[in-house]
Amino acid sequence: MTKAYTKDLPRLIQELEGNREIGLTEEQVLKKRESYGMNEFESIKKDSFLKKFFMQMGDLTTIILIVAAAISLYMAITIHEGDYVEAILIISIVILNALLGVIQENNAEKSLEALQNMNKQMSSVMRYGEIISIPAEELVPGDLLVLEAGNMISADARLIDVVSLRVEESPLTGESIPIEKEANAVVAADAPIGDRLNMVYSGCMVANGRGLAIVTATGMNTEMGRIAALLNNEKTSMTPLQERLNRLGKNISLLALAAAAVVFFIGYAQNEPVLEMFMTAVSLAVAAVPETLMVIVTLTLSFNVQKMVKKHAIIRRLPAVETLGSASVICSDKTGTLTQNKMTVQRVWTRGNNIIDTENAMSDEALSIIKMGVLCSNAFIDRSEAIENGIGDPTELAIVQLYEDYDYYKTDLLESYPRVAELPFDSDRKLMTTVHELGEGGYISITKGAFDRIESLCSDGDIQQATHINYNFGKKALRVIAVAFKRYDTLPTELTSETLENDLQLLGLIGMIDPPRPESKGAIAKAAKAGIKTVMITGDHILTASAIARELGILTCEKEAMTGADLAKMTDEELIRDVYKYSVYARVSPEDKIRIVKAWQANGEVVAMTGDGVNDAPALKASDVGCAMGITGTDVAQSAADMILTDDNFATIVDAVAHGRTVYANIRKAVHFLLSCNISEIFIVLISMLLGWGAPVIAIQLLFINVIADGLPGFALSREKPDADIMEQPPIPKEQSIFAGGLGKDIAFHSVIFTVLTLLGYYMGSFVTISSIQPSHEVGQTMAFLILGLSSIIHVLNCRSKYSIFKIKFNSNRRLLEMAIISIGIIIAVALIPLFQEMFQLVDIGDYHWRLVVLFSILPLVIVELVKLHQNRDDD
Ligand code: ADP
Ligand code: MG
Repeated sequence: MTKAYTKDLPRLIQELEGNREIGLTEEQVLKKRESYGMNEFESIKKDSFLKKFFMQMGDLTTIILIVAAAISLYMAITIHEGDYVEAILIISIVILNALLGVIQENNAEKSLEALQNMNKQMSSVMRYGEIISIPAEELVPGDLLVLEAGNMISADARLIDVVSLRVEESPLTGESIPIEKEANAVVAADAPIGDRLNMVYSGCMVANGRGLAIVTATGMNTEMGRIAALLNNEKTSMTPLQERLNRLGKNISLLALAAAAVVFFIGYAQNEPVLEMFMTAVSLAVAAVPETLMVIVTLTLSFNVQKMVKKHAIIRRLPAVETLGSASVICSDKTGTLTQNKMTVQRVWTRGNNIIDTENAMSDEALSIIKMGVLCSNAFIDRSEAIENGIGDPTELAIVQLYEDYDYYKTDLLESYPRVAELPFDSDRKLMTTVHELGEGGYISITKGAFDRIESLCSDGDIQQATHINYNFGKKALRVIAVAFKRYDTLPTELTSETLENDLQLLGLIGMIDPPRPESKGAIAKAAKAGIKTVMITGDHILTASAIARELGILTCEKEAMTGADLAKMTDEELIRDVYKYSVYARVSPEDKIRIVKAWQANGEVVAMTGDGVNDAPALKASDVGCAMGITGTDVAQSAADMILTDDNFATIVDAVAHGRTVYANIRKAVHFLLSCNISEIFIVLISMLLGWGAPVIAIQLLFINVIADGLPGFALSREKPDADIMEQPPIPKEQSIFAGGLGKDIAFHSVIFTVLTLLGYYMGSFVTISSIQPSHEVGQTMAFLILGLSSIIHVLNCRSKYSIFKIKFNSNRRLLEMAIISIGIIIAVALIPLFQEMFQLVDIGDYHWRLVVLFSILPLVIVELVKLHQNRDDD
């Protein structure tokens, strides 16, 4: 609908076939969907399977291989008179390798995509007289959008009704200050988006208030859709670790190419047949390139991300998984994340200076405070189902629950005292006010909120005593809500904070308990063991916060707690200097979070931060891992976050860190495995050529080992479970080299072992007469093929853990063991079955040769185990 903002509203609604009372009917929705389609942007065209396949093939290495195959073909025709086997084999292996890679990667990507679908945007709409929540993509023009603070707007819509609705439109206008909307505004046809006060636009968010609007455009027809059309060729980027490994892979490819060149020229100098030497050099270059590495990284990420979903963490941005492994500080909300967010009123302080314990009967005075609290709240108890269901803010629910426990009903109360206005609660003000009509004539405003915020607004009531009680309640870990009121004969013309929230009479205090989640304490201790500091951030009073923080083990000394007011007095420099001293921030507003995040980051710490509200979004973005609440979180917080906690639970973050570390550890295991195999392959060929022993393995053998012995078990390493002590290590330093902690040395050492043993095997087969079998080049190559292949496969066991294979749960990774056995079977079958023997140019070897093969293949495992034994003895 073009220029919907200039039209007369009733006419517009008519044109859209809408209904401002009940919304669209099911039939209308279906019909409209047919003509307008789904409310979604045309997605970036995904690469087809075939394209991905050719991309894998398009790798430099694959091109080399194809050239090699072509040359082999040429040789087959010109020299070997029609022996196409080698050419066909090379092509098959190339295809097999690319296929394996694409299939694995495809599966991984599919599950990552499924994940994206899990955090689909929802929208509240009125359809056929009922407010329902639907996936935003199902919106059609004419739908009635029900908007409230924290919503992302998912379609362009003309406003019908607003209650102090303010919308942040920076995605379209660049202006980050929310705009106050007016349903009745008259807007000129040429007004820029930011001035169209009677419209809301897809991609923007509701910062404040409520509204009802009729959808005028969906999908690509929205203003955002037009921009999306421009941005459509955005590329999916790699995570930092993927990038680093990609670079590593390239470096190794260069090394392999250099080695290949050297091999070729040595062969040339030694008068080996040029084309055959070329083939060997090429296959060496190809075999030594760790192309499987990138696939394993994707597999590892996807495997762990799926596991995280089961543990209530949805990853929205993939690089966050890696960052989690480095997290060193977790800044967590208290209410609902560390605590249960199940508030129960425990004490009420009334004006006669009585403290009533809610376990006992309530006095009339106490009940009237609760009654005021109920009037000034939006929570209610839904009795339409068999089970009672509390809906709304738990703080308010506690009050409503207590009231209804006495067999009163909030609905009745509201009938007697209809609400005429509301100044909503927000975490900055920590206050809320409602205005009600009194039956006897006149009006009353009720203000409830934090005592320290109400105190100065009161002109009547025992403030001194209340201050004392507020202190005592706080010490007992109670959250305190002060209740005050004011009467009017006639209402002020404008109902604002200035006109309503002053000259109040303090009525009483309500103290409520919110018990810690049972798993919080353990999770905090676990985090501490893992070198991660937990910081509590809350809007509650410092005493309440400290009492709970102490119980949870976050705080050991009162000096570690500070208030938002103290924080405001500190300069950024002071905060950066002293940030290590504080573990509890009380009475802070969401805006303060960003300072806390930045102060930690300035000290080089990697910060995870939780949040749920609109105002939390900037801090979530600024932090290294923004964690939004899945249950209580607003759309805005969720879309700013890297990870969503579907159970709002602190312990979930700590679990997620363990997964982040596992990903890193498993990628290191894969690097260990693939690099030690590949580097040894390079040196085996290189050294043998230098010694004038000829090529110890031929092209197809090398390629085959690469696919079967490195690829299959390597993929399975992505599923490896972490070492038991993974959460007893410090966080992974941000820029740590992937080879840190002795991995580089291990790789070098293990490459040497394989090189020596394979060359030894090759030498014995080629030059030594063993039990009357004549030594030959072919016997040597068969030995080298078997030793290199089998010891590579067995090597995967070395890479599973830095601990002995007897210390880890041997069958904790079934897939890996299966793959290893299958690969061993294939390698041996190829060496024994005549048809394959012939294809791969292998020959029969004697019993003694086989014994040597077995010995040389198992020896690396024995050596590595002995080294581990020695190292771990040092550790103890
Ligand atoms: P938190 O981040 O811990 O949830 P809030 O900023 O929501 O903290 O709340 C801070 C203070 O505001 C509470 O200690 C309480 O006194 C007051 N408060 C909380 N919820 C409400 C509410 N719905 N109405 C009035 N006051 C509230
Ligand atoms: Mg709150």
